[in-house]
Amino acid sequence: MRRVSMLVQAEKCAFLLDDRERDELVARPPAVGFSREQLRTLRLSQDEGVAARAFHDGEAIVVDANTALSTLDQVWTRRLDVRNFIAYPLVLERRDETERLAERVTVGVFLVLNKRGGSPFTPEDLRLLSVMSRQVTAVIADAQVYLQLTEEKEQLQATLQSMGSGVLMIESTGHISLLNPAARALLDLPAEGTDGAHFEDAIKNEPLVNLLREATLNGKESGVELEVELGEDHEPRVYQAQTAFVRGEKAGVPTTLGVVVIFNDITEIRNVERMKTQFVSTVSHELRTPLTSIKGFISTLLQDTEGYFDNDTRVEFYSIIDNECDRLRRLIDDLLNVSRIESGRALQMNWSLFDPIVGIERVMQAQRSYTDRHELLLDYSGQLIELLGDADKFDQILTNLLSNAIKYSPKGGKVAVHVEKDEHDLTVAISDQGMGIAPEKLDKVWQKFERVDNRDTRQAGGTGIGLFLVKHLVDRHEGTIDVSSVLGRGSTFTIHLPLRPKEALAELEGGIQDS
Ligand code: ADP
Repeated sequence: MRRVSMLVQAEKCAFLLDDRERDELVARPPAVGFSREQLRTLRLSQDEGVAARAFHDGEAIVVDANTALSTLDQVWTRRLDVRNFIAYPLVLERRDETERLAERVTVGVFLVLNKRGGSPFTPEDLRLLSVMSRQVTAVIADAQVYLQLTEEKEQLQATLQSMGSGVLMIESTGHISLLNPAARALLDLPAEGTDGAHFEDAIKNEPLVNLLREATLNGKESGVELEVELGEDHEPRVYQAQTAFVRGEKAGVPTTLGVVVIFNDITEIRNVERMKTQFVSTVSHELRTPLTSIKGFISTLLQDTEGYFDNDTRVEFYSIIDNECDRLRRLIDDLLNVSRIESGRALQMNWSLFDPIVGIERVMQAQRSYTDRHELLLDYSGQLIELLGDADKFDQILTNLLSNAIKYSPKGGKVAVHVEKDEHDLTVAISDQGMGIAPEKLDKVWQKFERVDNRDTRQAGGTGIGLFLVKHLVDRHEGTIDVSSVLGRGSTFTIHLPLRPKEALAELEGGIQDS
């Protein structure tokens, strides 16, 4: 640029490049005779003015003190104190293998401003510029390719940096050429000092080192599961690491440039698999227990051909069988409901107006028959409540919560159902004096198949779907459910239900008010 300004005796010169997104010609460094700010703000429209014309027509335009200028040109020439100038198109010519002209692209405009001494630019200046502009264009073309490459590289790097999956790349010599933050974290490697190191020196994870050896020494792509502890709290996570060769060309010959390892976090998948296996075994157990008892009592009754058992005993046996059948049916209903929710179908609601206290008393009565260690108490003395809801599902919510309260207080105690009603909501709190739930497990009890696993809960039996269903049923009533608990002291599950859920009102459309 300095040489150009010297040859044509110009005070200033700059080139403007085509900014296609904005339809502008934009000045780019380097330039001569411009302050940084002047250069940054030099942007000309591609629709109007001398530069635009030179750009579109591919012809140089010489402007002197007598040339009539458009408003746009008047503005920028006055701002930069320009009295005369040349706008010279920068034309890039691409040639094919036979040196024939394949393409002509105008990439921008070259501006040469203010001939020294105040005289106008001459045809001789134009000739000099035509020679120089070819060089300038070639340099710009290279620079643009370079810029594009750096931009693409930056984009790729940003993607790799922010990716959740880990990426590690090693050259065919075994030296690390790329390690993104996710990979760094899971391999517990420091931020510095690993780039360029050999994987055998840098990486301590034995299975991964073997995997990389397998790739670099034996030329085999393979995968391995890595169990790692992440972060300061040593959170256990499972990653699937898979190698793949990076193939490319070196001097026209296909070759392997290196090996890339992708780390995918499969902790959740493994957890779900583990839970499912556990679930199948607990469900089988839960199904077998009532069946064994039903079978036992029926066999006993069948064997009694002599009429040894009196009527009361027989009735007691029958009622046990009846209860166990109910238990089986509930379990199967729960399982069906879960699979319905799983497949994305919301549970169908049968809306009606009913008195929840009647439902609560019925469920409590049923639950009393399962225990003689617990005292089940209802605490409500208010007026009649009319709840708009699904009566069966309301029963199901209470049955689940009450049976849990009993099941998880094996030593017995009080199970209290406290009911409150205000203008819009019904609140039901069920509290027990049982084993309680550890604070860190409180959030998890709503997840399906989730059971707080310890000796006491294992003994109590269960499938881990009860509270998942309860939560879903409460949601369908547009209500909320919370739990508070003190380990070893007991738990309280509290539900808030709107007396008039919007969905029900919409469905019944005024029918309720009329009735
Ligand atoms: P399940 O009882 O079949 O295991 P739930 O979904 O009903 O499944 O409950 C999930 C877990 O929450 C239970 O395994 C238990 O550990 C805990 N839990 C539920 N209710 C209580 C309660 N009242 N007291 C203590 N722990 C409870």
